[in-house]
Amino acid sequence: MATSVAAKTDFITLAHPAPVADETRVQWLENPGFGTLFTDHMIMIDWTEGEGWHNATLGPRRPIELDPAAAVLHYAQEIFEGMKAYRHPDGSTALFRPEANAKRFNVSARRMAMPELPEELFLEAVRLLVDKDSAWIPDMEGASLYLRPFMFASEVFLGVRPAKRYKFIVIASPAGNYFKSGTPAVSIWVSSDYTRAAPGGTGAAKCGGNYAASLVPQAEAIERGHDQVVFLDAAERKWIEELGGMNLFFVFDDRRVLTPALTGTILPGITRDSLITLLREEGLTVEEGRYSLEQWREDATTGKLVECFACGTAAVVTAVGKVAGHDGDFTIGTGGPGQLTQKMKNRLTGIQRGQLPDTHGWVTKLD
Ligand SMILES: *Cc1c(COP(=O)(O)O)cnc(C)c1O
Repeated sequence: MATSVAAKTDFITLAHPAPVADETRVQWLENPGFGTLFTDHMIMIDWTEGEGWHNATLGPRRPIELDPAAAVLHYAQEIFEGMKAYRHPDGSTALFRPEANAKRFNVSARRMAMPELPEELFLEAVRLLVDKDSAWIPDMEGASLYLRPFMFASEVFLGVRPAKRYKFIVIASPAGNYFKSGTPAVSIWVSSDYTRAAPGGTGAAKCGGNYAASLVPQAEAIERGHDQVVFLDAAERKWIEELGGMNLFFVFDDRRVLTPALTGTILPGITRDSLITLLREEGLTVEEGRYSLEQWREDATTGKLVECFACGTAAVVTAVGKVAGHDGDFTIGTGGPGQLTQKMKNRLTGIQRGQLPDTHGWVTKLD
């Protein structure tokens, strides 16, 4: 079977010799965790200079063979996306704003000197995999099928220049809750020794390298008993940017909400963008601007700041209850999830899961 996308990129389906048995899968899906279980299949598409995208397959998920001199292993030319497929109450499957992921993937590709993937091809790849492995979408509360499209330089060459060969792959992983269940609000550590992204750097690209750089400060946060790290800007070490993989919102007592502006050092989250729209619908004033650590502490102490939450595809909306840094700790509101945080989480997940009307055309039904 070949599903047509463009003449050169028809997908070939390769049969799986030994898919996971139904009863094993059902048992695994009772407690999927995050990032450890994977579905039976994967998408793979090759790119070579001169030839473009070709050799598109939907086949068994399996290890990939890489030459030790593959460029990605040395110079980290790698980008990825994170998105979810949901099981709707009517039994259908749905994606949330997948075109936004396809677009952002190409923004990341350009920054990392990688070839762009036609948006329709990205979307077709994701759709095919979800359709093939739809039995892997867990349907318990808060669960979904996490999709990980990614691309890396596979050319065998140690010279330093953009590679001439790449692989685009999509894998899928059934997911429960990202944070340990029962975590009502997270505690975050302000990193003053490390930054995530510098002006002119790769902060706005979804590349593996950004995550590699965030691991030491993230480990430091865990070591000190916190859940996540929050980064300050690299130039002044003063302005709040984001967490290692989530954007931040600050809620004030006058129905005003602030989120750090997209200055090039912050990842433009699709959850962030969606929440800006939903918050405005609630009649709140949403500003994209700058917010200093000093102001954060002061506003939390005086009670002017009533809530704070982090957001992203993996953890959706998560309350920030406590903040700690070298200059001491402070608590936001009651230290637990505030009303607006809870409401926005319910609204967003309600739309994603087909329990609330999709008035913005954000939901793509697959069948
Ligand atoms: C992926 C990511 C986010 C969240 O983006 P979503 O599109 O909302 O999932 C935020 N910050 C960083 C650094 C990220 O990599």
